[in-house]
Parts: sequence; C-alpha cells; structure tokens
Amino acid sequence: MDEIILIKLGEMVLKGLNRNVFEAALIRNIKRRLNYLGGFDVKTAQSTVYVTPHEGADLDEAVERVSKIFGIAAFSRACVIKKEMPAILEASAEYLKMELLAAKTFKVETKRADKIFPLKSPEISAQVGEYLLEKYPHLCVDVHNPDITVRVEVRDFGAYVHGQALRGAGGIPVGTGGNAAILISGGIDSPVAAWTMAKRGLELTAIHFASPPYTSERAEQKVHNLLSRVSEYSGRMTLFTVPFAKVQEEIMAKCPEDLFTLIMRRFMMRISEQIALRENCSALITGESLGQVASQTLRAIVCTDQAAQMPVLRPLIGMDKLEIIEISRRINTFDISIEPFEDCCTVFTPKHPRTQPKLEELLEAEKALDCEALIEDCVNNVRLTKIYPNQ
Ligand code: ATP
Ligand code: MG
Repeated sequence: MDEIILIKLGEMVLKGLNRNVFEAALIRNIKRRLNYLGGFDVKTAQSTVYVTPHEGADLDEAVERVSKIFGIAAFSRACVIKKEMPAILEASAEYLKMELLAAKTFKVETKRADKIFPLKSPEISAQVGEYLLEKYPHLCVDVHNPDITVRVEVRDFGAYVHGQALRGAGGIPVGTGGNAAILISGGIDSPVAAWTMAKRGLELTAIHFASPPYTSERAEQKVHNLLSRVSEYSGRMTLFTVPFAKVQEEIMAKCPEDLFTLIMRRFMMRISEQIALRENCSALITGESLGQVASQTLRAIVCTDQAAQMPVLRPLIGMDKLEIIEISRRINTFDISIEPFEDCCTVFTPKHPRTQPKLEELLEAEKALDCEALIEDCVNNVRLTKIYPNQ
C-alpha cells in the first residue's frame, strides 16, 4: 500500500498576505530535513502539505523528523488510494487492521475536499462503517468515545485513509522571523531558550564562552551535542566559541570578588553583541530566569542588560526550573545538560556573589580593565563550528 505524510499547517494559516512566505519557508525546511532519506516529493494545496516518498525512502525516519519541524499543527501518516469507493473500503479495513483488531469501538470521519466526488461525506462514512462492521464483527460503532477513529479524506490528488492525526511541533517556520544569537552554556536553560525562540521562527547563531585550560574539550563537545539536538528543530547553525579565560583572569586579578560574575556576564553580552552584529543578528537570546541564581535577580539582570545595546530576548524569564526541565526532557536535551562537565561560569564562581549590585559600582570596577582590548581579542579569536542535526 502506498503511503504519504499529510501535514496540516499551523498558525501561519492566519497570516494573510505573508502566508505564501511562511508556506515557502516551511516547504524549504521540510525538504532540507528530509534530504538524504531516499527522496520525497513535497507539494502544497488547500492548507495541506503532501509529502510523498520515492520508492525505498525511509518513511519512519521522515515521520520522526517532520514531528520536529516548526509551523506544523498536525500531521498524519496515511495510505493513498484511488478516489473510488471499493478502494476506499478495502484500504479502511486493511491499513488500520492492527488497530481495528485491538479496538472494541470505532467511528468513521470523512472529509470531502473534492466536491465532484459523487458521494457526500456522511454517505462515505456510512459505507465505510458498514464495511468495517462486516469485516470485524467484534466491533461496535461509538460516535462519542470510540477506541479508534478511521479517517477518510477525499482530496484533489487522491483519497487517503489514516487513524489519529499526530500533534505537530507548532510555532512558525524557522527563518521567517529573522536572526538572533543564542548564548549557549552547557546547562539546562539555554538549550530550552534556543528551542523556544526557534519555535517563533528565528534562525539561530550560537555563541559559547569556553575557558581552556580551566574547562575541558569534553565540556565543549557537550555544547556541540546539545546544539545538535536543538538543531533537529531549529535547523543547522553556526557556533562561535569564544576563548574566555584571559578575560576571566583579568577580572579575577583586578576587580572585587563579589562582582566577578556580573562583570563577567557583562563581558559576555558585549562580546556576543559584536559577533551578533557581524553575523547579521538583530537580538541576543539567553536562558536567564528571574531569581534563579544570584546573577539573575532583577537588579543583576538590569546591570547585565545595560552592557549591550542590542535587544536581549529572555524567553524563560518567568518560568520555574521544573517547567524548564519539562521542556528540556521533551526536546531531549536534559540528559546531555546534566552531564557533569564544568562550565566557564562555575570555574571562577565567587563565594559570596552580590545579588543587589549597583551599576555605578560595576562601571567603577571595570575601569581597572582594558575592556576594549579584551573584547577585541576575544572577537578576533573566535572559533567557528558548523552544527548539524544528529541524524
Ligand atoms: P544554563 O542552564 O543555560 O547554563 P544557568 O541557569 O546556569 O543557565 P547562568 O550560568 O547564570 O544560568 O547563565 C545565564 C545565561 O547566560 C545562560 O542561560 C546562557 O544564555 C548564558 N551563559 C552562561 N554561561 C555561558 C557560556 N559559557 N557561554 C555562553 N553563554 C553562557
Ligand atoms: Mg550555566
């Protein structure tokens, strides 16, 4: 039996004149993600995207990948048949055979987009229902709460039979919302922040601060692995790794210990802004969440924010740690995030970081540093890595 993936577009259906742009981006993203799986035709009509595999293409993997593409409200794996009743009846009984054998009750729902088809939707449902009762005498019809719903769609290109549609990743297609740079650590929060903003259509560039020899190569590998998981949703991205040890050593040597973390974070923002500008990004993204740690009190965030001119998006700002963990489990980054490799922030953590800093104090303390030279040195020595989805 020939199979297909039927994709229902997400909220971009509402976007009026921009709709074509959104649809084109979605099709491009789908094609890109299904590359190298054996060939698929991807076409769109009547708010549905049809993904048809060539002979031998890996449909199981394609379904898995489609479930992670933003801009999709729901999708179904369906069998494709001729627009003739005998074929529709036979496919309804065969394609969902396992599910029908396991069920006690069922109903049939039909959508007829092709108004030329001689039977109306209720007539098609009635005929399919009757046929299934004949083939599977153990079944009863239950229109309110059935164990299984057999769905029949009669559309322009053919007829389709499938079971329950699966929920898509939602959001809007990556690439339709502009570019932003995610500051990525090896922690739980920043990969979730990256995913959250990619879901709103942003294309991501990643920036990571590493402090060899204080931090190891494995800590950097961990960040690559995290981003690779994120890129299953966001698409491929470029990672800029910034050598940060010298900046940290300078702050440690010349600034008050209790301000260390905040001054360091202000450097991160300034350096990231330079890289972001160069990469045509219009905003920075961080995984900060209000009150989570000393450097994320409102006062601390205000002081960090002041360091860069570029807008800083903080999608997790109002979320609890448990809510963030729930998402990180769902997007499969949690297991990697909890691997125990040191981050550049943890290496130099002061014993008593300030939670209620004053901006004037920070500006005063930073006078002891040659900020411009330190920033320029970092920006000139960034390393570039291309990150691709795992599979
Ligand atoms: P995470 O779980 O993402 O590490 P966190 O709760 O540990 O976050 P902080 O270490 O204070 O919080 O960092 C706050 C944010 O600053 C991170 O979410 C991330 O966006 C950015 N950040 C922290 N460390 C780094 C780093 N080494 N490289 C790049 N960005 C970083
Ligand atoms: Mg961290």
